[in-house]
Amino acid sequence: MSRIALVTGANRGLGLALVRQLLARGDRVIAACRQPGRASALNALAGEYPGRLHVLPLDVAEPRSRAELVRELPLVLGEGGDEAAPRIDLLVNNAGVLHSGERFGHLEQGQLEDSLRVNALGPFLLVQALAPWLADGARIANLSSVMGSIGSRGEFRSPGYCVGKAAQNMFTVQLAHALAPRGIVVLALHPGWVRTDMGGASAEVAPDDAAAGVLAVVDAASVAQSGQFLDWRGQPLPW
Ligand code: NAP
Repeated sequence: MSRIALVTGANRGLGLALVRQLLARGDRVIAACRQPGRASALNALAGEYPGRLHVLPLDVAEPRSRAELVRELPLVLGEGGDEAAPRIDLLVNNAGVLHSGERFGHLEQGQLEDSLRVNALGPFLLVQALAPWLADGARIANLSSVMGSIGSRGEFRSPGYCVGKAAQNMFTVQLAHALAPRGIVVLALHPGWVRTDMGGASAEVAPDDAAAGVLAVVDAASVAQSGQFLDWRGQPLPW
């Protein structure tokens, strides 16, 4: 039976590359994004893979939007969402935001809060809301960043993003503990410096290579590795 994956921020960048690869390997994919009506690449893929790609609206930072996604899941998972219905085997918390141009002396509370909501609070609360829909033994990939590594920061740069990812790393560890009784593996994953809107044109890694690396690391991870902070090649990173 095909596996079921849910990817957030699936309309562009790394999220879209992940959706493409999950579909190509035979998974059923729930692709969540803020504006499905404008997600032309996803809507084209839905035509290529009939019945295997479901595009649902989700703003990870909004409590109502997260609740609405959870309400819609039974329709997508089928069989009325009863106990025998399939569950999600892989959740990729990919949606993230980096507000560029943060300068010391000019930081504002609203933008810092947005970084925390999108990069840390939203993904954590989404996992909590989706927990009943996760299969025992499922995998959760929290897309983190070396910029969230407190031990390796050597400059003042993008503090909102760095703090958001550092907080998300702690949520990864917390979730690993909370979900361990169900054999669910939770990882914080740095995808490399990737050529997307966020990473920019001179970034080192192609989105397809980063997506393939992330999926390989998630697939290979053991239960004992749950709660670790790894890069897209499976190398441990300092917290
Ligand atoms: P990207 O090109 O900027 O794409 C970001 C994605 O997140 C978009 O789909 C965006 O949707 C979505 N998003 C932003 N805010 C959202 C919200 N409130 N609710 C739902 N979706 C939201 O970024 P990327 O490079 O693909 O990055 C993917 C992940 O990898 C992020 O978590 C990022 O922090 C992490 N990462 C990237 C790099 C890199 O070099 N690129 C390095 C380390 C980590 P809209 O189109 O609606 O804005």
